[in-house]
Amino acid sequence: MKKVTESMLHEWIQQAEPYKSLGTVADYIPALQKQKREDIAVSVYHLDNDCVGAGNLENTFTIQSISKVLALALALMDQGEDYVFARVGMEPSGDPFHSIAKLERTNPSKPLNPMINAGALAVTNMIMGSTPDEKVGRLLTLIHEMTNDQSIGYDEEVAHSEFETAFLNRSLSYFMKQHGVIEGSIEELLDAYTKQCAIEMNIKQLARVGAVLANEGRDLESGRQIIPVQLARICKTFMVTCGMYDASGSFAIRVGIPAKSGVSGAIVGALKGYGGIAVFGPALDERGNSVVGMQVLETMASRLELSIF
Ligand code: GLU
Repeated sequence: MKKVTESMLHEWIQQAEPYKSLGTVADYIPALQKQKREDIAVSVYHLDNDCVGAGNLENTFTIQSISKVLALALALMDQGEDYVFARVGMEPSGDPFHSIAKLERTNPSKPLNPMINAGALAVTNMIMGSTPDEKVGRLLTLIHEMTNDQSIGYDEEVAHSEFETAFLNRSLSYFMKQHGVIEGSIEELLDAYTKQCAIEMNIKQLARVGAVLANEGRDLESGRQIIPVQLARICKTFMVTCGMYDASGSFAIRVGIPAKSGVSGAIVGALKGYGGIAVFGPALDERGNSVVGMQVLETMASRLELSIF
């Protein structure tokens, strides 16, 4: 597969410019409304450690649902596959990410997968740590290892804003507590979850996260195994089946790269043997995926024939 050059990225991001005005910036987390439509960016981190980028490379954003992939990797490392998948399923839901509907219908009453909010809350509940800050600190340590960058933290304003308004996520959590899927304090769980979602990065840092997943969980420079191969594979498989909300099927057909999207407008892709891809554009389409991001990924995948299928 051909490497991406900076001039290609400049061209594709320019082509996506007209799409900046389309879609809606998420506002159900009040602090996310402050994101600017103009702040679009793209980056590719090749496995040989060569990183290219275009657009607003300085801008930082919260990773939101993308954190669900990393929290899953950590919970699997902490507790093992059997423990985790006894409490969260492996099937796509076809419902919106915050849906409560299927929780009641599944038997035993466990969330369908770790990428919808119910499943992600159950996963965060399984991360080891006696306080929310310890759990989030351990997740940040994993991210520092993946990005080789200790400076990454979370945006306190976004975390607080979500914590204050996360009524639906509290409902999902109480429902699962009733049914024995999660344990402990719901307020502490929401504290950890909203901080995890508010982890803040720039586009190149996010592309490197994708690259480590693409590199079977190994550090790009030293080759050190950060996430076991089998667990990185599980994460990427969920990215294919449920990473792009209820547009995961059409995304697999139109782009064909394991990817995870977040309501901030960030998307990370992990392409085995190739590298990590990150796009950002805060305005979302009706399925919750970045309009500009989808546009750039479609162009990139078709020009360079990147689909895994
Ligand atoms: N923090 C967000 C929530 O739980 C994440 C959602 C998303 O990015 O899809 O509502």
